Amino acid sequence: MKILVVGAGLFGAVVARERALAGDSVTVIEKRPHIAGNIYTEPVAGIQVHRYGAHIFHTKSQRIWNYVQQFAEFNRYTNEPIANYHGKIYNLPFNMNTFYEMWGVTTPAQAQAKIAEQRQILAGKTPRNLEEQAISLVGTDIYQTLIKDYTAKQWGRAPKELPAFIIRRLPVRFTYDNNYFDDPYQGIPIGGYTQIVEGMLAQPGITVALNTDFFEKKAQYLHDFDRVVFTGMIDQFFDYSLGTLAYRSLRFETELVDIPNYQGNAVVNYTDAQTPFTRIIEHKHFEFGTSNRHQTIITKEYPMTWEKGLEPYYPVNDQQNDALFQQYRHLATQTAATVIFGGRLGAYRYYNMDQAIAAALQIVYNKDLFH
Ligand code: FAD
Ligand code: UDP
Repeated sequence: MKILVVGAGLFGAVVARERALAGDSVTVIEKRPHIAGNIYTEPVAGIQVHRYGAHIFHTKSQRIWNYVQQFAEFNRYTNEPIANYHGKIYNLPFNMNTFYEMWGVTTPAQAQAKIAEQRQILAGKTPRNLEEQAISLVGTDIYQTLIKDYTAKQWGRAPKELPAFIIRRLPVRFTYDNNYFDDPYQGIPIGGYTQIVEGMLAQPGITVALNTDFFEKKAQYLHDFDRVVFTGMIDQFFDYSLGTLAYRSLRFETELVDIPNYQGNAVVNYTDAQTPFTRIIEHKHFEFGTSNRHQTIITKEYPMTWEKGLEPYYPVNDQQNDALFQQYRHLATQTAATVIFGGRLGAYRYYNMDQAIAAALQIVYNKDLFH
């Protein structure tokens, strides 16, 4: 089979590799000047810079963990971000350290009692949105201090107007454990993420063309290839004919600073409303600060409303957009039988890296799709 993969991100690279291994001839086109999509990292002043935001690999799946080990060796980095609220520091995710910092409580029973008392404001109803979900999980004080304004900055709308699942991404623990993830496998590839995608695309049978946008020759690609695996925006594929899906975009402001250690941690969230960015990443700490002894690189992350021409980093999975996405899926089954949509944009899903890999591995051996 002749397969075109649109997008050299993680999803596209896994599909390309596995289909090439199965004997197909695979062409990958990527509109950016580099491979690896949003997991792209590059060395600057001896420090691996995560160009599109902090990426920490974590997974529950031993199978996915083993899969990525083929392409890089991982360090034992554990993500332990902190939050800065008007100059006061809190531990994340929400755990006994946070509860102590917020209320001075020292035992799980005291913390649970405090949350139960604050949750009463919900009068026992099932949480219907992010605000209610957050209050139900951690109470009103933590909601006000660490969640409300950060979330409004990140998503450009009030937490009341967002789906509850977004806050359930974060663990709530009654132990003194600052690990941001519950997954048993976690780490950062030594030497960065780009090598992972490079390794996948090095499989014989794959040709890669950078600076190449699918929409410049859409009709010809659809004619020339037996299958197209499309990891760009599904609404753009259909020329936004049913309407525009909502995305969140980001602006990254990166600086090389002439001090060895800027903030003492890889990730510091700014959870107040006044600070215009959501977080500062200090890249060297992903590698335990050993890479450059004199300088450091920091990136401030500014959320933005997505509009055409900007990068669509996050799908906005509220009911209205999920319903529109389902209409596009339906349109795809009617009109684009040889096209397979996948990845964060093609599937319109808030995938983590392990989920993007798992979703790709799920389709590549599906005989109904590739036969
Ligand atoms: P992408 O990486 O977006 O790749 C899609 C590719 O398609 C892009 O390179 C794009 O340029 C290309 N493309 C699009 N349209 C076209 C076109 N028309 N023609 C040609 N090429 C096209 N996950 C984690 O597990 N841990 C984290 O800590 C983490 N942090 C994140 C932080 C941020 C700020 C963001 C935005 C995401 C984060 N993620 C994290 C998620 C992770 O980035 C995704 O799971 C992963 O990148 C998804 O891969 P993908 O291939 O689906 O998408
Ligand atoms: N969140 C928050 N305060 C924080 C960190 C996260 O309110 O300090 C909320 C916010 O709504 C965010 C969600 O939790 O969108 C998920 O956080 P995560 O760190 O998983 O977001 P991502 O890294 O995907 O941007």
